[in-house]
Amino acid sequence: MKNKLGKVLSFLREWDHGDRTVRGRMLNTFLIQNTGKTFYELELEFAQVASLFLARVTTWMRLTYMFGTFLGLQLNAIGIFLSASSHDQYLMEFLEDGGVLTLLEILSHPKSKEEEKAEALRLLHTVSNAGRKYKEFICESDGVKAIAEFLATSNADKTQETARALLETLSHGNPKYQIQLYKSLIALMTCSSPKVQQLVMCTLRTVQFKMNTAHHSIIEPLLNMLRSLHVEVQDEATNLILLLTSYDVRPVLLSGLVSLLRPTKEESQKHQLNTEVPSEPEIIKRTGSLPVFVQQAAAAKTIRLLAEDSPDVSRELLSLGVIQHLLHTLGNREHTDAQIQASMALEHFVREYPVIEEQVQRVMGCTLSEAFMHKAETLYMNKDETQAESLLTNNLNISDGKGCNLFSSCCSNVLCTNRLVCNVVMNKLRSAMHKGKRVGLEMVKKGTAKRKKSETAVKEEDTKNDSAPSTYHTFPDPADVVLLRSHLLNWYDKEKRELPWRTLAVTESDLNIRTYAVWVSEIMLQQTQVATVIDYYNKWMKRWPTVQDLAAATLEEVNQMWAGLGYYSRGKRLHEGSQKVVSELKGQMPHTVDSLLKQLPGVGRYTAAAIGSISLGQVTGAVDGNVIRVLCRLRAIGADSTSPPVTEALWSLVNKLVDPERPGDFNQAMMELGARVCTPKGPLCSQCPVQTHCRSYSKVHAKQEKKSQKLLGKLDRKPSTLPDIEECVNSRTCPLCPSEPWDDKLGVQNFPRKPAKKPPRVERTLTCVVLRTGEDGEDEYLLTQRPNKGLLAGLWEFPSLLLDDKSSEVKHKRALCAEISTLVGINLSESNFKCVGEVVHIFSHIHQTYVVHSLSLKDRDTQTPTESTQWLTKSALQEAAVSTGVKKIVKLCDSVDSQKEQTLKDGKRKKQANMKNGKKHQTTKKKKLGAANMSSRQLSLSSFFKTVKDESD
Ligand code: SF4
Ligand code: ZN
Repeated sequence: MKNKLGKVLSFLREWDHGDRTVRGRMLNTFLIQNTGKTFYELELEFAQVASLFLARVTTWMRLTYMFGTFLGLQLNAIGIFLSASSHDQYLMEFLEDGGVLTLLEILSHPKSKEEEKAEALRLLHTVSNAGRKYKEFICESDGVKAIAEFLATSNADKTQETARALLETLSHGNPKYQIQLYKSLIALMTCSSPKVQQLVMCTLRTVQFKMNTAHHSIIEPLLNMLRSLHVEVQDEATNLILLLTSYDVRPVLLSGLVSLLRPTKEESQKHQLNTEVPSEPEIIKRTGSLPVFVQQAAAAKTIRLLAEDSPDVSRELLSLGVIQHLLHTLGNREHTDAQIQASMALEHFVREYPVIEEQVQRVMGCTLSEAFMHKAETLYMNKDETQAESLLTNNLNISDGKGCNLFSSCCSNVLCTNRLVCNVVMNKLRSAMHKGKRVGLEMVKKGTAKRKKSETAVKEEDTKNDSAPSTYHTFPDPADVVLLRSHLLNWYDKEKRELPWRTLAVTESDLNIRTYAVWVSEIMLQQTQVATVIDYYNKWMKRWPTVQDLAAATLEEVNQMWAGLGYYSRGKRLHEGSQKVVSELKGQMPHTVDSLLKQLPGVGRYTAAAIGSISLGQVTGAVDGNVIRVLCRLRAIGADSTSPPVTEALWSLVNKLVDPERPGDFNQAMMELGARVCTPKGPLCSQCPVQTHCRSYSKVHAKQEKKSQKLLGKLDRKPSTLPDIEECVNSRTCPLCPSEPWDDKLGVQNFPRKPAKKPPRVERTLTCVVLRTGEDGEDEYLLTQRPNKGLLAGLWEFPSLLLDDKSSEVKHKRALCAEISTLVGINLSESNFKCVGEVVHIFSHIHQTYVVHSLSLKDRDTQTPTESTQWLTKSALQEAAVSTGVKKIVKLCDSVDSQKEQTLKDGKRKKQANMKNGKKHQTTKKKKLGAANMSSRQLSLSSFFKTVKDESD
């Protein structure tokens, strides 16, 4: 230790006295030697004083970042320390040395390069992830402003996304600065970059969701977003509006939306002006009044979505005169989409509240209203100028003309002349509420009620329905589901690996070939790694590009192609399935998940769902091993992941989550996430696109935060109240909660839990390598085929016999010898069996030891091959459909062989040397044979065969 400390001190001295070239070199060496090290490893390397070096690098960075010379190296070196900070020590020291401030300054410094800014953001992310106090520190340092400004000015997609994710992380568990963050995000909406607008609204939804109220300043910029010519921006705005209807800003928001259906005079005039100039290029029109109509169309669309979602909102919209405004929008003669969207929204109201139909008919006239009721979305093609004008200027007021609006809340007045009509409407509203608009209802109810509900109330609700899983393990909020899909798919679109089957699933237009191609990939990927499958898959598809080609192949060819992929029955089932498709289904692959499941051998629930969603676009989730892990972590499901309640819960979860527009991509994205980010060991939570939805992640961080509160005495002297860690309210009786206690060391890896693994079955198999000399003098091996069912079905192997404990090895040898005698048609004796050695081969559930013997036949006068036996040369054997165990046996024989040859050579050399020395030795053939027999366990096959031949001479 003393020695190490001495080395470290001289290292630090060299640093202190070195110029920037020396320091640059030292940083390079540090990075090479220490990347990926843990806190303890770094401490060991630096004799417990690693932070002395961190302080030096941080200070150097603070002094020189504006010149940018070694900024990249400095950031990377600091990254090593911060990532190793499972302990808070480095983080605290970094903070105290002003590291966070420097990182924020780097973001706005004009000389910093894009990758340096990206690295600074990543480091800030690490700091923020360390807990609430660190988040507060970043916010106190004006971090939100710096990050928001960076987001507004950055042009790189990836860095923008990192900045957005950082803002989102800062909003988690940071109540003190939540409002500041929220307002900064609202301000950012006015930024001109559509990408930033989209990112900001997406983050705003997450932040808003955690707040009790919404700020009125959000309304104007949000409604302005509906003018965007970018569909993604419009969609995000619509989603945010949907969420905001659960908050106190709802009345202002709805009335704002309705007024967008009727642009102001000035705006319309501006439009007239633009369209009167026929030569005006389209682009100028776009910057002129087009956005007004785009906004009008988006408002109509949003109104429809809101009304479909909630009868309450629907009624409020009616009382705001939405029908009159929609009719006005229908009169728009310039923008088709505005007319279509208004038609569709109007259709919704008319169908839900038939009382409106009569009024609409009056404004439209008979012919137009017939066309409207027949196909609302094509109405714009049917109207003439006069009809358009009357729609535009309609002054429909759905009231009795005495100031009583049909849809206002005046129905309590028993003398009201509209009471009858109102009752019809209200009945309709009630039935709509019961009919299945539950999603919308839940959303509205949840927004208002959830926030008020006391913990006990939640408990009561959760325990009322024992059979349904607690909401802690589900996604009860549709808005959350929408958000998760979008986070996951955005990530997948950017990060997915290009794999041959993915390419085929997208580029292959023939449905039959596409389904076949995905089927092959799914079967190959069962229990085999992607990297191994790629080569096999390419070769397979080249050789059998269609299901018909595969059906025409022999099982032998299929097994040969499959050799090395393991679990041979999979290849066999693919082959059987292809023959079934050709002979029983007229060559047509099944086209639904159900028929895939029923009609294809080897296709289970997961495989059918995967093929159905990826190749056929069927809306179904798919649960494989990766998805089990991701879902169990996302919803903190810790009971045995193979138990029936967990299995069912996972299927129901994924079926709820799957994106109806992109089911195949969604399923692949979940699997990709499990394979690359949410891995079994060392999950990369800081890079996870669905981190904000992850219960295990929040659980770990809430625990860490509690701990760091104690450790951070230096930064926070005031006691702060941390929210309790959210838990399942039914945990004691819950079939999805872990039965074992939480293990701090495991973190998110507490989920999922697997049942204790059964030890593999131990088996010993007696096997005999039977050789003869072939026609051209080359050795040939006798192989027999395994049964068509069970382990290694249909593969070729050396004659073998499973040893059972009850009979002796001699008895087994006798039985195997008798079997080989029948196979080759020669009466053999077991004394001809020579022991070669043992080979161990481990299957997933069997620990197999082959006890290898060999036997050489004197001539070729053996029985001709039958259907289940064949003689193969060594090279043919290597190509044949044999298992890895057989190849290992051949290898053993070869090594024994070369060992023997070496021994013989050595003996020869010795003999020559002895002769030189005049010592002549008389060695008899018998003696040689004796020696050979003595060492029979090490004999090479060829010398052994030679010996047996000599013996019989
Ligand atoms: Fe998995 Fe971590 Fe992402 Fe949660 S945050 S899903 S545990 S990688
Ligand atoms: Zn539970």
